[in-house]
Amino acid sequence: MTRDAISYFKDLHPLAELSNKEHKTQAYIVNALNALGIETQAPIGDTGVVGIIRGADPGPTVMFRADMDALPYHDDDKGLVAIHACGHDSHCAMLLATAHDLKSIVKKGTLKLVFQPGEENLTGALAMIRDGLIEDVDIAVGGHIRPLTDLAPGEMCSKLKHVACATVDIKLSGKTAHASRPHLGVNPLDVAASLIQNVNALRFNPQEAWSIKATRMQCEPGAKNSLAQWAVVSYDLRAETNPLLQDMLRRLYLMADTTALAFETRAHCDLIEECPASEYDPELVAMIEEEICSIVGPEGLKETAGGGGEDFHFYKTKKPSVRTAYFGVGVGATPGLHCRNMTFDTGYLKNGVALWKRIAARLLG
Ligand SMILES: [Zn+2]
Ligand SMILES: [Zn+2]
Repeated sequence: MTRDAISYFKDLHPLAELSNKEHKTQAYIVNALNALGIETQAPIGDTGVVGIIRGADPGPTVMFRADMDALPYHDDDKGLVAIHACGHDSHCAMLLATAHDLKSIVKKGTLKLVFQPGEENLTGALAMIRDGLIEDVDIAVGGHIRPLTDLAPGEMCSKLKHVACATVDIKLSGKTAHASRPHLGVNPLDVAASLIQNVNALRFNPQEAWSIKATRMQCEPGAKNSLAQWAVVSYDLRAETNPLLQDMLRRLYLMADTTALAFETRAHCDLIEECPASEYDPELVAMIEEEICSIVGPEGLKETAGGGGEDFHFYKTKKPSVRTAYFGVGVGATPGLHCRNMTFDTGYLKNGVALWKRIAARLLG
């Protein structure tokens, strides 16, 4: 029996679960794939699922990736609640709605329908890779619904741009002393203030988009008439390309070390989180553009910048031979992704389903 994306979406939306806790969603997807007679691999990446469709003839291994997790919000009555405010329920729904027809579309090679947990905290792709997901993969394709500010309903884009990002905590050691004798200690807040000024003076190529800024500062709690033992400055870094992010990290670490040294103390840099930028395969993108034009016409194909980080791009950086692409589906999401009251027109999910089928036909038909 074939079901459309809206029907799957209605089931998945209320199941909303936080990153790495997608147990009910995992069970639902396994059942849905089994009901279609599709071989499944689960658990993989802890709470992920892979559906496997094998063609009769030899060919490449392609993975289509949907993410599964919802976001945490505070509710006055219920406390912490999970809400599908990024549309990952719709991504699973589109892939499930595609699955039935893929069995007849795939004639060669292997198609992996990848339901990946933990996208929002950037852990899921790495967990899937740890469990062997991409060992045999040649091509990886992802997709995401877009807010109204990116794409009008019915429009689509072929290469959603994601920037590289990183979070770093820099712990600056101080030396406590009575505030009346500051010359006997090292004030870590002075070191932190200098560090922030010094990092703000770093310059990178203005032809590439980048930003680096302190977002949080903490210090040892205690008496206000004594110097603290330590301070921690947290940094958020964004870069258009992966080499630029690595250069920014190198310069940040160097500035932390030399600033601390100037105060005769030490800095300890801790890379808390890192996510690579998109690096797409031009041929694959061109093929997807042709197929988008067949679905929504050339006027429906748009360029859009997208936005923040996406852990999908670990599939490329951890195995550079993998060819990747990532499309966007305009569904009129408002007021925006990650808004707890985000809604969109589910009627446009059929465009995503149509595109998945056409990509499968081109690569494995
Ligand atoms: Zn998100
Ligand atoms: Zn998302």
